This record gives sequence, structure tokens and C-alpha cells, in this order.
Amino acid sequence: MYNLGHLYEAAVAHYLATGKRSLLDIAIKSANLVYNDFIGQQLPYYPGHQVIEMGLVKLYGVTGEKKYLELAQYMLDIRHGGDEYNQANKPVVEQDKIVGHAVRATYMYSGMADLAAINNNNAYTNVLTKIWDDLITTKYYITGGIGSGGNNEGFGEPYYLPNMSAYCETCASIGNVYWNYRMFLLKGESKYMDVLERSLYNGLLSGVSLSGDHFFYPNVLESRGQHERSAWFGCACCPSNVCRFLPSIPGYIYAHDKSAIYLNLYIQNQSDIDFNGSKTQIIQTTDYPWSGKINVTVNPTEIKDFSVALRIPGWASGEAVPSDLYHFLPDLNAPFTITVNGVPAKYVLKKGYAVIENTWKSGDKIELNLLMPVRKIGSNPLVAADRDKVALQRGPLVYCLEWPDNKDGHVLNLVFDPKSEPEASFKPQLLNGVEVITGQATSLKQADNGTQIAGNETFTAIPYYAWANRGAGEMEVWLATKATAARPLSKPTIASKSKVSGSLDGNLLTSVNDLDLPSSSNDHDVLYFHWWPKKDTTEWIKYDFDVKTQVSECSVYWFDDGPWGGCRIPESWRILYKSGNKWIPVKAAGNYTVNKDVLNTVKFKTVTTKTLRLEVKLPKEFSAGIFEWSVK
Ligand SMILES: [Zn+2]
Repeated sequence: MYNLGHLYEAAVAHYLATGKRSLLDIAIKSANLVYNDFIGQQLPYYPGHQVIEMGLVKLYGVTGEKKYLELAQYMLDIRHGGDEYNQANKPVVEQDKIVGHAVRATYMYSGMADLAAINNNNAYTNVLTKIWDDLITTKYYITGGIGSGGNNEGFGEPYYLPNMSAYCETCASIGNVYWNYRMFLLKGESKYMDVLERSLYNGLLSGVSLSGDHFFYPNVLESRGQHERSAWFGCACCPSNVCRFLPSIPGYIYAHDKSAIYLNLYIQNQSDIDFNGSKTQIIQTTDYPWSGKINVTVNPTEIKDFSVALRIPGWASGEAVPSDLYHFLPDLNAPFTITVNGVPAKYVLKKGYAVIENTWKSGDKIELNLLMPVRKIGSNPLVAADRDKVALQRGPLVYCLEWPDNKDGHVLNLVFDPKSEPEASFKPQLLNGVEVITGQATSLKQADNGTQIAGNETFTAIPYYAWANRGAGEMEVWLATKATAARPLSKPTIASKSKVSGSLDGNLLTSVNDLDLPSSSNDHDVLYFHWWPKKDTTEWIKYDFDVKTQVSECSVYWFDDGPWGGCRIPESWRILYKSGNKWIPVKAAGNYTVNKDVLNTVKFKTVTTKTLRLEVKLPKEFSAGIFEWSVK
């Protein structure tokens, strides 16, 4: 039914774009069959992955067939007695928290919002409002991404918003746009368009490369260099979703009710809007989001009384997001101005819109000026991952620091003074032309006597959507404001200076000597290497040193993602060194321990060698993995 839902949406889009019924007739035939099977026989099954509900409403939109609405509602109302994973744990009208798989959730709420609007279904509207509040108050990333966990590709506990392991699937951002657009249509409030815009310009757009042919599935907010876009995926929902979504953007710019035309997105365009029985042309001239100056020409076919409602984005009126999850530092308004034909406009602020009532004639000009200072954003202290950190935003764009623009390719070691004032400037040659933000930070490094300041430097931040177009490396959205929140450059060790290779290359093998220790054996915020899906074999990794080195101790921190994952602590391990062409086991002074959540250290009789090998016997039923292998 997931596939059928997409088929119906495609058929309607094809019909509306071309006027051809070829695909639409197939969709109708299919929907009639599903109707006869499910309504006719009252089949008590609900879709495992929602989307058919939205598809059926669209089919109703072009055919006027009410039975498609009846079928969509049936699919929603039989959901219960199942799992939280696909929002079937409770009847939909009893749900009040956002849970489970993020794409399934947003598709379902989009279908519910459609039906709520058409059927005036208050029960649906009420639960959608509660679920939306839960999302925006506790489970929403500053990039507009949603879904924090890879395990369920969805929502975790409230305020659990890790950055490096953020899931934020591209499809979930697209689903969030669908849902928030429908919430706006239902309630006419700008906060839904604010959320839509944040996803659109940040966590959604980052899903596709500037070249248009590489894609992110998860959209993380921090990287140590392990993330790059792919040309394709085995499960290729995101690339195809981006392809169908981007051409639909014009449809989100305007809306109207009986008395007003709403300008929801500021994008240069010219549009003819069917409004109260005649066409009204609207022309926007702007280079938004780089500047907040928007020139609008209103061309009704005849002189007419109506309202033009300009969305005043939350970011332009001092509100980072429509909840207390994130806030601007300091909390100031960025004032905006509006003129009509050069004269300050009379308007009322209503539901987040500046509503200008006027008798409009062809050629009338509105100028909206939204100031775009660089804004610093703090998060609710309940978000542990963002504590003592700030994010940077300008206009609707969230920024990140990426390796190519910063000293020696490092950004995670920087500490920013939140009282300083970063500046913005336009760089036409960079990343197809972007406004960058520059500021001052101190960089940290580890020394024998603890953490030291390495120096002061100027950092450069780029729009988040444009990252990962110049190769893999460090990136962060949240910038430390205290030394304890930064990651000082490590002091090199025997292990970190050696060349690592193994019986299996890849799978982040280089993480074993990156000097980054986890907080537990099941810590997914620190890089690890694993042999999965191998099990019950003997594997090895080795360090090659530049010169012959004396070594007498090794420590290993094992990765173990039980009870759900495929890796456990190994059955056994040992250290060998190379002498001539032979591998010789070291003379260990104690046991080779295999404990979780600690470094397992073995001391041995000093050997002098250029190559050291760690041999690991994998468990019978599981694989194994390593966070760190250190050498003294
Ligand atoms: Zn996807």
C-alpha cells in the first residue's frame, strides 16, 4: 500500500502537469480495487508504511470521488493494537506524542491533516496539534531535521538530540514539509510555515549535493570525516523523494482564502493566482535568502479590495523556533519594514502575518525588508548534546563550520566567545555563491599538563546545506562556548602516528587510533571499527611504526551493541610482533581480558619492533568491534 500511495500521488501529479489520464486511470483502477477489498470486505489490516492516505486524498482532489476519502479514513481508523514503530500502538485519535519511524509519522499526519481539513474533523485536528507541539518542543533539530535515532529511523526520548549520530533522514524532512504545509492550510498560522522553511533550507536541502547527483540519507549535525553523500542507496527512498519534491516547491510559495493572498515563501518568481473569480499576478523580485529585501508587484486584472498577508518569519521577530527548545542570544527583535508604493504600509499582525488590506490596482508595489543580522542560538539546557554550545543562523539559513574553511582542517577543537559578534559577507566563488559568517575563536590542544590553548583564530562558517561538497572532514553545527564542550586536538601517540591496516579494510578502521574513547561499549557518538557480519573467525589489525619502537603495553576498548546489534566482546585476543618475517606472540604478564565499558590492558615483556598485530577471535554467533587500540 506504500507503493500504491506513491503511485496515486504520481498519477495525480502527472495528470495535473500534462492533462493526460494514462497513469491516472491506472491509479483509479487500483484504488477501486483496494476500496472493494478493504471497505467491501472490511479487511482489518492497516498499511505498514503510511502514505496511501495522502495519495487517496489527492485522488479525491482530481476525481471528486468521496469513496477515496472514506478509504483513507478507514486506513487511519483501523490502526491500533500494533507497534509504536509505525504509529499503530494506539488509535490515531488517542495519540498525543510523536513516536516511531519519522517518515511514517509525517506521512500519516499529513494524511490526517488533509482529512481534518476536508471533513472538519476536530478530533484529528486536536491530536495533530498536540503531536506537533511535542515534536517542536522536544524532538526537533535546529536544522529542521527530525528523527534522532538510526535504530528505528525515528524519534527517541524527549530532548535526546545527538549531533554526530543524528538520523534526520532526508525523507523525514520532506515529510515534515508536507505535514507543516497542511497544518498551515488547516490553521492559517505562520509558525507552520516557519517550521517548513527551516526544514526546506537546511535539513532537507543538505540531502542533495550541489552537483545534484549525490545524496545523504541521514543528515548529521557533526562529523569527524566519516560522512559523505552517495550516488544511490539499496533503499533509495531519499534520492527519488528529493527528485519529486524539488520541482514541487513553487506550490508552497502562495496560498489564499476568501479574503487574502498569503505570501509564505520569499523566492523570486512570477505567478498567476486564481483568486475570487479572476487572476491576480504576483511578482517577487528578491535574492532571498541572502538578503531580506523582497519587492512584490501586485497585478490584479481589475481594481479590487483584498488583503495581502506577508509572512513575518519567526527568525525576523525574535523567535528562533515556535517553542522553548531553541532561543536567540541575545533575545532581540530584528525589526522589519513594509512600504506600499513607497509609503509606510498600514498593516495588522495576525497569526504571524502582516496583513495589508487595500484596494489593489495593477502595478502596486510592496517592499518588505527583513533585517538579517547573524543570530546566535542557544538550546534548552535539557538537550545534553548542545549544552555550552551555540549555533549560528542568518535569515532562514543555519550555518556550520566545515574543515576546508578552517585552520588545518579542524573545527571541533574551537571555542567561541558567545559575546563576540561574527560578521557575514558574500563569497560569489564559493559553493556556487554563499554568504559566509566569520568570527573569532580559540583553538584547544592536549598537552602533558592537560588542555592548552593553542591559539586564536578566525573561523569561517558556511550554510549547512552546502557542506560535504568538498570531500570528507570535520563539520559541526553547534560550536562550543566552553573548553569542556570542545574536542581539543589530541597529542600524538605511538598508536596515532602509526599506519593501521587489517584483515578487513574499511568500516572506519582508522577510528581505532583516533584517540577518541567512548563513554561505554555501546556509545554511538564515538567512531568505532567493526568486523560485522563476520563471526566465528580469527581477524587481525596491525600497526606499522615509522621506526623500530619499544613497546610493552596495549589496551583495547571493545565495541558491543548488544542486545540488539550484531557485535559483542570477542572470545579472545592476543598481541603479536613481527621479527624478521615471523609473527611472534608477546610474553604477556597477565590475562587478555575481555570486559565491556573499560580499556582492557595487557602488559608484556618489552619488544622492539616495527609492526604490532592485534589478533581477535570473534564470538561463535556474533561479530566484534573496536573503539580504540592504544600502545605504550
Ligand atoms: Zn529516505
